[in-house]
Amino acid sequence: MALRFYNTLTQQLETFEPLEDRIVRMYTCGPTVYDYVHIGNLRTFTFQDILRRWLRYRGYELRHVMNITDIDDKIIRNALAQGKSLREYTAVYEQAFLEDAATMRLERPEFLVRATDHIPDMIEAIVELGKKGYTYQSEGSTYFRIAAFPGYGKLSHTDFSGQIVGARIDVDEYDKENARDFVLWKARKDDEPYWDGPLGPGRPGWHIECSVMAMKYLGPTLDIHTGGVDLIFPHHENEIAQSEALTGKPFVRYWLHAEHLLVENQKMSKSLGNFFTLRDLLARGHRPEAVRYLLASVPYRRKLNFTFEALRSASSAIERLRNFHLRLQTERFAPGLNETIQVRTEEALRQFEEAMDDDLNTAEALAAIFSYIRDANAAMDAGVFRQENLMAALDLMERFDRIFDVLKPSAVPSDLSDEEIERLVAERAEARKRRDFARADEIREYLRQRGVILEDTREGTRWKRV
Ligand code: AMP
Ligand code: ZN
Repeated sequence: MALRFYNTLTQQLETFEPLEDRIVRMYTCGPTVYDYVHIGNLRTFTFQDILRRWLRYRGYELRHVMNITDIDDKIIRNALAQGKSLREYTAVYEQAFLEDAATMRLERPEFLVRATDHIPDMIEAIVELGKKGYTYQSEGSTYFRIAAFPGYGKLSHTDFSGQIVGARIDVDEYDKENARDFVLWKARKDDEPYWDGPLGPGRPGWHIECSVMAMKYLGPTLDIHTGGVDLIFPHHENEIAQSEALTGKPFVRYWLHAEHLLVENQKMSKSLGNFFTLRDLLARGHRPEAVRYLLASVPYRRKLNFTFEALRSASSAIERLRNFHLRLQTERFAPGLNETIQVRTEEALRQFEEAMDDDLNTAEALAAIFSYIRDANAAMDAGVFRQENLMAALDLMERFDRIFDVLKPSAVPSDLSDEEIERLVAERAEARKRRDFARADEIREYLRQRGVILEDTREGTRWKRV
């Protein structure tokens, strides 16, 4: 069976075929860098990582764009309140996002682009929309006239035709009940940052950035566009209107949306005290692989109920996977081939691949692996697993980990005190002086495994915790 995705646009499970042979053009709405990303955001980003990895597994080459929203209402409000420039304010959270993404082993998209680096492109697109009759101005701002775009509502499957047209909205995010002419360019207000140009002094609204950056790097028609379900309306509906009004071509062929993450079955919120960033979880001693596993294990179209119990189960699941992998690598098996086991390994691989092809059914894919591990362990215990069964078993685990990426332990945060580290660094310097490089390397490795990295400079050895 071929690779299938559920397309929000058609509300159908569809066979995936990119426009151009083996290339997939994909766009992802990235983070708004006004705070640390939370585990809800990471759920959606982890789904996108699994999607990327599966497309590559299936032989596609990716052109994946993720934007960084570094200008919006919240960012401006917070930056002004702290007396910082936009860039000063967002740089911290942008850096934190990159670090968190790396900790979560999220592959980096081919293009990671900032909204504020594309303001002239946005102005040009808005001017062009104006020439085509899709915009109007009011009090220095420019709005998109949704009545001029007949397809409005096709992604969220809402019929907006009976609603009053002409009502306008200035804020970037607004409620789901009402269609509104949305702002493309906001007139300069008080001491907010602004850009000059043919639209007058102002700054872009949120929606236009995604249309402009997507089409700049990927052309008028993308294969895949992803995001969380909260973005379907108005954000993605508005992206379609802007893009298709500009080009007259279909903007996106497959829309994939991840369901939300809940904590103990409740919407995550700071006021409920159930709001977690990755950093919060790591500070409580949880491992990033366990978070990754948990977020990846629930198929993306199902709501994910985050609990600490589930996080602990994720940890033991990883333990089982690693133990099995270690057993494959270290145990000695009798020569020969057990046909039954070989057939069983092939079956597990087929089940794993079929589950992933089925709209990324990660739960089924994991079930296939665990059921295989049970059978293989039993065969090893009974002494019937043979040397020539090993290659296929290792290959299965390698393929599994190409997608899930949890077998390799990440460095444990150092539990060594500064004094202890200093003492070892000094001992290593002594060893090097005596030309005892074996001992010196041993100390370096010991520290590395405890999350301490050494850097030899002319002034001596510096160390830092990772
Ligand atoms: P934001 O930084 O708010 O623009 O969100 C970044 C991504 O996270 C978007 O794709 C959102 O749809 C997604 N997102 C936000 N909250 C959640 C949640 N609770 N569960 C899953 N995804 C979420
Ligand atoms: Zn977007």
